[in-house]
Amino acid sequence: MECIFCNILKGKIPSKQVYRDENYYAFEDINPQAPVHILVVPIKHIPTVNDLTETDKDLISEMFLLAKKIAKEKGIAESGYRLVLNCQKDAGQVIYHIHLHIIGGRAMKWPPG
Ligand code: 5GP
Ligand code: ZN
Repeated sequence: MECIFCNILKGKIPSKQVYRDENYYAFEDINPQAPVHILVVPIKHIPTVNDLTETDKDLISEMFLLAKKIAKEKGIAESGYRLVLNCQKDAGQVIYHIHLHIIGGRAMKWPPG
């Protein structure tokens, strides 16, 4: 199955890179919902949170440490930011390759819509 994010990771679809290493790729969201809107994507294709297994423990915890680092670099660590991981349709998941949204640079409302 064609996955948009797998194609972005492979460079087949252009994107604005924020960070890359052997396990993750982070890039700017094409439709930003705030002044800072970055997606952190594991290179491993995992469709949803429901598909995580014990073997993904380190991958997922390191994803949060990476998000923290990126938030600091983007200058929103102190003002604050939201980390969002949508799972399945009721949450609004559109791309079925796990990704952590880093959203910040403005005050946000709660609860989310
Ligand atoms: P989801 O709703 O699945 O949690 O989030 C998918 C996100 O991916 C959306 O915020 C959407 O704007 C972003 N997105 C979808 N297609 C592309 C693309 O081709 N390039 C980039 N940079 N972002 C995308
Ligand atoms: Zn994928």
